[in-house]
Amino acid sequence: MSNFKAILISRDEEKNQSVEVTELSDADLMEGDVTVAVEATTVNYKDGLAITGKSPVVRHWPMVPGIDFAGKVIESSHSGFSEGEDVILNGFGVGETHWGAYAERARVNGDWLIKRPDGLSAKQAMSIGTAGYTAMLCVMALESHEITPERGPVVVTGANGGVGSVAVSLLSKLGYEVIASTGRLEESDFLKNLGASEIIDRNELSEPGRPMGKERWAAGVDAVGSHTLANVLAQTKYGGAVAACGLAQGFDLPTTVMPFILRGVCLLGIDSVQAPIAVRKEAWNRLASDLDVGKLESLTTEIGFDDLIGAATDIVDGKIRGRVVATL
Ligand code: NDP
Repeated sequence: MSNFKAILISRDEEKNQSVEVTELSDADLMEGDVTVAVEATTVNYKDGLAITGKSPVVRHWPMVPGIDFAGKVIESSHSGFSEGEDVILNGFGVGETHWGAYAERARVNGDWLIKRPDGLSAKQAMSIGTAGYTAMLCVMALESHEITPERGPVVVTGANGGVGSVAVSLLSKLGYEVIASTGRLEESDFLKNLGASEIIDRNELSEPGRPMGKERWAAGVDAVGSHTLANVLAQTKYGGAVAACGLAQGFDLPTTVMPFILRGVCLLGIDSVQAPIAVRKEAWNRLASDLDVGKLESLTTEIGFDDLIGAATDIVDGKIRGRVVATL
């Protein structure tokens, strides 16, 4: 088979990291029972951390980054997949410990794949990407906690980011009143078009606050962590719940037990990387039906393969609005 284009992160003996666009062959790929022609990928915050080296995301060297892709099976010895099938991969250490999506071809363990739902193209699936799939996991967790639209508004933090923008769209389509918290107030119209009914400045939530505050929302989707999550919890109504999935402000959680023991507020942890296949399938099927395709397009910026490295740097600098998708 011919060579293919890939992004490779390497490091030297002094552990200095470098990133290059290079050519690889099938023989270079890591072990796996399914080989996929990557059709689309995206840039998640974690990809940004891997490419910039800002956090120790990469744990095998050298590494082809990219934690998610949509593509077509070109070779399979796995019983669940055959040649020509359309598949999606999110997480499972791909782009961290196993060569990932930023290449025209990937070879992975078939147990990590799911079939792409009908009604979603490869490009749409990666416009959603791991960020959007995580937003869906957050919404599903709130639903399991019986947070219905009648219970009151839902606050979404990091609203202009990937998880946030998809969460705003999904919640609004499902009939929830959405309060969007952002540091980019100039993007208020964008967030209102996605379905937010109120925009608040993230500075309201990002500083150390009181253990308990006025009850403002029934629930939250938090992509930010740190003081922001502590303040979201402190302002959640009696019996409410907050789905925590991110750490854009920090991985600390300087809170008290007060919201939990005086208001029965629940903190719901969300992990997309090791989520069981059944949960993934449910999330992706829900995304195919519950996400407004027009809104998905409005929150997506299309880039080329060669732009991936720049976009990965931008996402860590908080310069990406919504989602980016690269078709190969
Ligand atoms: P993005 O960079 O697209 O969005 C993050 C958003 O957070 C930014 O757009 C910004 O929103 C806000 N933000 C950034 N820095 C700060 C800060 N210092 N203080 C407060 N807010 C800040 O990333 P994603 O949406 O892809 O991911 C969001 C988080 O979720 C990341 O931490 C990521 O690692 C995590 N994640 C976790 C997953 C899991 O499985 N648990 C899966 C996917 C992502 P605005 O401009 O609106 O203020």
